[in-house]
Amino acid sequence: MPKSGVWNFAAGTKRTRRLLSKAGPVNSGSASIFEKMVFMAIDDWFSASYGEARAKFLAAAKTAGASVQSYPHPLKGPDGGDLAMDMAYLGPQDAERVAVVSSATHGVEGFCGSGCQVGFLETNIHDELPDNLAIMYVHAHNPHGFAHERRVTEDNVDLNRNFVDFDAPLPGNPGYDEVHAMMVPLDWDGPARQAAEAGIETYIATNGLPAFQAAVTLGQHGHPDGLFYAGQAPTWSRRTIEALAAEHLMTRSHVALIDFHTGLGPRGYGELISVDVPGGAEHLRTVAWYGDEVRTPASGDSASAVVNGTIENGYHDLLHATESTTIALEFGTLPVEQIVEALRADNWLYLHGDVNSVMGQGIKQQIRAAFYGEDSEWNAQIWERGLDILRKSISGLGASGSRR
Ligand SMILES: [Zn+2]
Repeated sequence: MPKSGVWNFAAGTKRTRRLLSKAGPVNSGSASIFEKMVFMAIDDWFSASYGEARAKFLAAAKTAGASVQSYPHPLKGPDGGDLAMDMAYLGPQDAERVAVVSSATHGVEGFCGSGCQVGFLETNIHDELPDNLAIMYVHAHNPHGFAHERRVTEDNVDLNRNFVDFDAPLPGNPGYDEVHAMMVPLDWDGPARQAAEAGIETYIATNGLPAFQAAVTLGQHGHPDGLFYAGQAPTWSRRTIEALAAEHLMTRSHVALIDFHTGLGPRGYGELISVDVPGGAEHLRTVAWYGDEVRTPASGDSASAVVNGTIENGYHDLLHATESTTIALEFGTLPVEQIVEALRADNWLYLHGDVNSVMGQGIKQQIRAAFYGEDSEWNAQIWERGLDILRKSISGLGASGSRR
């Protein structure tokens, strides 16, 4: 893919690389011309569509000399383009330790993680790896959701709730059963919606916003047309992640996962979320690596409520012989009420509406704004935080005690 003149100018020099990879807090309001060029270089890593993001990722992986493996998805994007989960690997093939950086577990959230992955490749972070360590970028865990700008997979499943044991009785979610009808009204601009809003207001007034968030986001197996649906079987994305991990990660002694997310917490801030029990071995390891900013939903100090069936759970179940240290890196965009409203609107749109209508396009803009900050300042905040966390992962992974 051809690079812009600005990119060649701004990132072609060692000085700019240093600035991009060490940048302190940046503020677009008072930026110098040089800093503005840095902003533009960072913006260049971020994309406006899945197709653009994938092309940038594959081009950057090729330039970096990564070995690339693509897992084609059976469906197409809205533009008829191909979909795939793409993996780029840098470092010794037999490295004992691998840092995995993944994007788009929640489809439309992929603009964020993809931008960082392209930036990591373009600034050659892999040159900083110690001998026994490799880095793996997994682009678009949920390529269908990314391309269609939806949080869910092609089967309306929340991939980050789908890693449960489907051979065991599935967990119930009575809280969601109570709010489901209000989450999924028959119309989005008529009496059903109005009644639903009144019902939600009453629910929140009675139980509080945290209880509402917990009921909605825990994950549920009972309503295939609902929100945060966890499915009745492993999705394509889960099966593909498991195949990729079985092929490339199972024999490693240590694996770190940074899974990029958006939509919760203060705008531009990247919250580190460990799904381990507070004080558990993995949680303590993440605190040692990243500091005491690590949050655990179970302790109630996270922007995330407790949820079932995350990809981190999937890694733990799969990588028995590996010490895995997993984290979700969650970047804020808009207030949680607006996020939930955008998700309800998008869910209604694909159940009852027309994506190509004026209303449909308005809802698509709403969902995009809910999960993609899409301005230079947000992009720069995401980049700086992502880079800092990746470097801490590499250093933590390198220093973790040997298991062999
Ligand atoms: Zn997410």
